[in-house]
Amino acid sequence: MQSRIYKHLAATRLKKSTIAAIVLTILSLPLTGMRNSSLAQDQSHPNYEVYALSYGVYPNFPVSALMAGADKDRKINLQMMIWLVKGPGGKNILVDTGCYHENVVKGKGIKDLIKASDAIAKLGLSAADITDVVITHMHWDHADGMDLFPNAKIWIQKDEYGYYTGAAWQAGGKSGGIEPDDVLTIVKLNTAHKVNMVDGDDREIIDGIKVYTGGRHTFASQYVSVRTASGTVVIASDNMYLYENLEKHAPIAQTFDADSNLKAQDRMKQMASRLDLIVPGHDPMVFVKFPKPGNGVARIQ
Ligand SMILES: [Zn+2]
Repeated sequence: MQSRIYKHLAATRLKKSTIAAIVLTILSLPLTGMRNSSLAQDQSHPNYEVYALSYGVYPNFPVSALMAGADKDRKINLQMMIWLVKGPGGKNILVDTGCYHENVVKGKGIKDLIKASDAIAKLGLSAADITDVVITHMHWDHADGMDLFPNAKIWIQKDEYGYYTGAAWQAGGKSGGIEPDDVLTIVKLNTAHKVNMVDGDDREIIDGIKVYTGGRHTFASQYVSVRTASGTVVIASDNMYLYENLEKHAPIAQTFDADSNLKAQDRMKQMASRLDLIVPGHDPMVFVKFPKPGNGVARIQ
């Protein structure tokens, strides 16, 4: 192409240096154009900040209930956690909502229990500031606080919603870990047009925030990837309870499908920009690995 342009321009009897300048300009045009447009694209896509927030500790929890094949005598202080994804322009996305209703938390012995709305206050936010709530799954310790956020859209997998409002309570159904009142709450939120049902795997629900199925902690549990300045963060929630699940390549103990769970964990490794940017659902080490800013808040970066 270069020589053809040369011949054509030479035929117009321009000086060699002028021809060279024209050729260089012509050749560099498409590249410059591409570079500019991709730069503009990057700037138009927001990066988010991701925080893990402690809302309590469940003491002496058996590790064998978290990780398949673990020693029956091992216990840990289970970290109760939710995650705040903070974007520009007042976008505040809460991933899971903890638990607080008296009939749900009664007798469970959770220490230092605070409401999700009080946990976000540590970042200067009030319940009304939450624009979106992603429910990773319907278990009581993740979904019970979903009625605390008056302005939030709820994002849940369509199949998770369908199963736990229906077949889970029929003969042969699995309703373990689901609070009947939380089912009534999400149905009520749906009738108020506040629920967005996500239809399946690998869906970008908000620019830079995607959800994925296959973890099979519950019927259709989901995990979340978030674009940040440090790269892609994966909020695994209970699809990976502990860092040890990843390290030992062990499925979670409570799953509808152990093979699918392991595949989901392998996939998280592929999508996260660093291994430690995969945030497990209940590991107290999250607040050790990411000690800042502190006071039950860990910035994942
Ligand atoms: Zn949980």
